[in-house]
Amino acid sequence: MKVLKFGGTSVGSVEAIRKVAEILKKESGQEQLVVVVSAMSGVTNTLISISQKAAVRDASYESNLQDLEEKHCTAFKELTGNSNCFEISKLFVRLTEICRGVYLLRELTPRTSDYIQSCGERLSSYIISEYLKKEGLQVELYDSRKYLITDKKFGSANVLWQSTKAALQELKPQLASISVFPGFIASTSDNETSTLGRGGSDYTAAVLANLLQARELQIWTDVNGLMTSDPRLVPSAHLLEHVSYEEALELSHFGAKVLYPPSIQPALDAEIPIWVKNTFDPEGPSTLVTKEWDDEKQTICGISSIQDVALVNLSGASMVGIPSFSYRLFKALSQANINVIMITQASSEHSICVGISKTDAHAALEAIIEEFEQEISLHKIDEPVVDEDQSIIALVGSHMKNQVGISGKMFNTLGRNGISVKAIAQGSSERNITAVVAKADLKKALNTLHESFFLSELKKMNLFVVGVGNVGRAFLRQVQKQQELLAREFNLDIQVVAVANSRKSYFNEEGVDLTKWEQLLEHGNDSTIEAFIAQIKALNLRNSIFIDITASHTIAATYRELLESSISVVTPNKIAATRDMSSYLDLKYATKKYGSQFLFETNVAAGLPVISTMNELFKSGDRIHAIQAVLSGTLNFLFNNYDGKRPFSSIVKEARALGLTEPDPRLDLSGEDVMRKLLILIRESGRKWEMEQIEQVSFLPEACKNTPDLNTFYELLDAHEDHFLELYSKAKEKGAQLRVVASFQDGVAKVALEQVALHHPFYFLEGKDNIVLFHTERYKEQPLVVKGAGAGAEVTASGIFADVLRIANQ
Ligand code: ADP
Ligand code: ASP
Ligand code: MG
Repeated sequence: MKVLKFGGTSVGSVEAIRKVAEILKKESGQEQLVVVVSAMSGVTNTLISISQKAAVRDASYESNLQDLEEKHCTAFKELTGNSNCFEISKLFVRLTEICRGVYLLRELTPRTSDYIQSCGERLSSYIISEYLKKEGLQVELYDSRKYLITDKKFGSANVLWQSTKAALQELKPQLASISVFPGFIASTSDNETSTLGRGGSDYTAAVLANLLQARELQIWTDVNGLMTSDPRLVPSAHLLEHVSYEEALELSHFGAKVLYPPSIQPALDAEIPIWVKNTFDPEGPSTLVTKEWDDEKQTICGISSIQDVALVNLSGASMVGIPSFSYRLFKALSQANINVIMITQASSEHSICVGISKTDAHAALEAIIEEFEQEISLHKIDEPVVDEDQSIIALVGSHMKNQVGISGKMFNTLGRNGISVKAIAQGSSERNITAVVAKADLKKALNTLHESFFLSELKKMNLFVVGVGNVGRAFLRQVQKQQELLAREFNLDIQVVAVANSRKSYFNEEGVDLTKWEQLLEHGNDSTIEAFIAQIKALNLRNSIFIDITASHTIAATYRELLESSISVVTPNKIAATRDMSSYLDLKYATKKYGSQFLFETNVAAGLPVISTMNELFKSGDRIHAIQAVLSGTLNFLFNNYDGKRPFSSIVKEARALGLTEPDPRLDLSGEDVMRKLLILIRESGRKWEMEQIEQVSFLPEACKNTPDLNTFYELLDAHEDHFLELYSKAKEKGAQLRVVASFQDGVAKVALEQVALHHPFYFLEGKDNIVLFHTERYKEQPLVVKGAGAGAEVTASGIFADVLRIANQ
């Protein structure tokens, strides 16, 4: 014999019920089948809402009842072809009477509530059995209330094992080849209708499987089986093909709704294997739950969660001395019918913390205050504190006990994403580790843990890009081009979640389609930087990276707030790294404290690995003594191309048109841009340094400094063309090249135009090349050289990309 249970969605529509019939036709014939059905999906909720409305004299319950009757009659007629709904109407006449009683008395007792709820399963089981008969199957409908006997704990009654066993043993020889039972419902020994708790049809099936000595229990639902996490919260959750009873129990206890936790024990006791299968994909993969588990399996089998939890914290300096303190606490909670999901107690015994369902919070508080009234009034114990809007996450796996470092990895992963943990518990079975986090962090926490524990899985990076000029465009193009390869070869899922310019922004949590981001942004929402950041924070996605590809002061001023929200920042914008030393340190401090990263490789020499090389040297214990560098691709371009035949200004204009200058080329020509780069290098070499400490020898004639606008600047350059001609000729005479050199040596930092002779490494610098020489403890005789194109949209974009990948690979 097999027991097959079909859940709410599996019997939720005419089409679904037809699928059930197909499954039963395939399964029947060889052995007896016991079929347990839930109410049609949504019906139990509707019945509860109807009864609650009636109890508060909300007359709209009547039309809800009519709709419900209509829904069932329509399904019945469609399935059976029989237009006579007499049985269904009869049940509704009785149900209407009872609801009327509730309405008049304004009282809904648990007992009445159970009676009303029981109608859902009574209706569905009737309709299904009539349909199966019409389909030619040999079917009999049994009223579970005659066989499943419970205590009087209405709402969540306990099955009285001996009475139920006796009743079923008597029934067993008379069972038809397909016996249909309504799930969820039972009755007390006084024949009062009771229910087994929400989700209880699974339990009905498990009890029947145990007491009728079935060979197998099948739970048919709307997913392929038990998954590594709740698929509604974790889109990348995958199917578990084989788990132990214990694992299934832990997963379901901590929220995997697909199996009602009490239903595992009866199966375990009789060692009946449980299959979880999908009614809508009957031939597809599924889950098998059995006693033994595979030794080769992953340490963590799944990550469960319970969304609405409250934490009750009880503390007090004198708690240590109060005898049987925890006994009294749990007695009080148990008498108030409150289920404790988790407990943590500090070893100092100064406080104890219990996690309960949020709906129980109020009752728990009352029960505890009543129990400890005296101690509280004498200030031996503080008033209990309730923290609502919490969620529980549990890592589950039988193999965890043989492994060290799982909890370390768990809390490290959460910490890096700025998720703070309110309480922690580990079962002594070492089959689960449980943590409480704020409900607002639940989705992020689950997804980031899932990625970190299931290695085969794609790690998702969520990018927010502001600034879509030349570099921004190139960056988006590069990301689009690499996305597939990164996913395939490196398990990285790089998603741009938002793009913004100074006027508009466009968000898509699933990833912006980068083939048409321009149109999407054009039709995006009007936005300010504040609104943009508020939206990033509200989304609260894991592995978030804010990418600033502007030269804006306002945006640079937001980094700290972002870093403090555990959102990493990547930028070619030099402003933040070159303000005063204390703001620079603030940003560094924020990254340490909040687990975020602030990377700005492209601040110096575009995509060349200059800052990262220096960081690696520094981390590995090398010490930088001196730096010499040509850091402006723009200035190189100017001095490489200027030969006196064309005016200097026209070369500046050409460089600007080629995108080789800052938006305002005066920043390049004044030497300020090089000074900023040098400042960053000095700071990243581990020294405290300010902009004023850099000596600047400008090559511009005095009149060309501090011009009011760009046009005046160009005019003044032309007026002083002789000055540039002279610089050029003097160098030419000596066979030297002109280079703006940034240097740092013996505590002196300087930016100046120099003539470099033929043998100097700076002599041969093509086009927009940059070069940096690091003289270090280890690179003593010959400096370490980094050289290559140091300006241009494509190389800058690739430097930004490299920073993103550095964060992803952490
Ligand atoms: P039924 O009506 O068939 O009893 P339920 O709604 O009670 O179905 O349970 C199935 C649902 O449980 C799935 O649709 C899924 O969204 C949810 N669920 C939560 N956690 C898990 C998990 N770890 N594995 C599978 N499903 C899960
Ligand atoms: N119909 C009941 C519920 O919705 C029982 C079940 O579906 O298992 O909770
Ligand atoms: Mg269920």
